[in-house]
Amino acid sequence: MTDQSLKMGRESRHISLSQIGEQGQKLISDATILIVGMGGLGCASANYLNSSGIKKMFICDFDNIDATNLGRQVLFGPSDIGKQKVLIAKQQLEKINPKIDIQTINKKINQQELMRLDLVKNTIILDCSDNFNTRFEINKYCVKNNHYLVSGSAIRFEGQYAVFGDNYKKLPCYECLYSQNDESYEDCAGNGVLGPIPGMIGAMMAIETIKIICNIYTEKTQLNIYEGLSNEWRQINIKKRQDCPICN
Ligand SMILES: [Zn+2]
Repeated sequence: MTDQSLKMGRESRHISLSQIGEQGQKLISDATILIVGMGGLGCASANYLNSSGIKKMFICDFDNIDATNLGRQVLFGPSDIGKQKVLIAKQQLEKINPKIDIQTINKKINQQELMRLDLVKNTIILDCSDNFNTRFEINKYCVKNNHYLVSGSAIRFEGQYAVFGDNYKKLPCYECLYSQNDESYEDCAGNGVLGPIPGMIGAMMAIETIKIICNIYTEKTQLNIYEGLSNEWRQINIKKRQDCPICN
């Protein structure tokens, strides 16, 4: 099969959607994203965005693959244990979409590292990390450089996601929702989680990312919470905090 007919096949079901069409698919083909964290959320969102035919993806994780990852981090298998997550993820994703440009960052992310990436202006950033320090760092960078931030998390039977940006003068940021002074939050690292929950939230994050890319995302900042045990969704509007040190 030629490259061109592969591309046409890959894109055909998106092009059939009136809200995306050829124009939207062209935007997808030109899009760049950054995914921070190649755990359950990162594997799922990277998988779908990779298959959608985006142009470029930065993936960032400082961890190596561990046996405890295999229950939900669907890009990895037993022979990958001990290897760098970003390298194996890149190999897997390239098998599925050989045309994508994947850049790997095998480091803990902070402002300096983010600056070093020299991201193009409309790069969408997906926060799939599992700790609040990283989340605050990413948020700060997104507000400062006006990037859309698609944030997700999963723990036990519960998952949540929200989209922030890109007009931070008017709209809330991640720290309007979770402040560094709050002590009530809980890191997801090391806690129990049902494998498909991060998979589902990662897929939701990919949906929102594609909507942003295709200009069909509607601006309303809300936290979407899924309760897996009772199979219920809840939405909470996120308000801009007048005392937020990041977006004011
Ligand atoms: Zn804020």
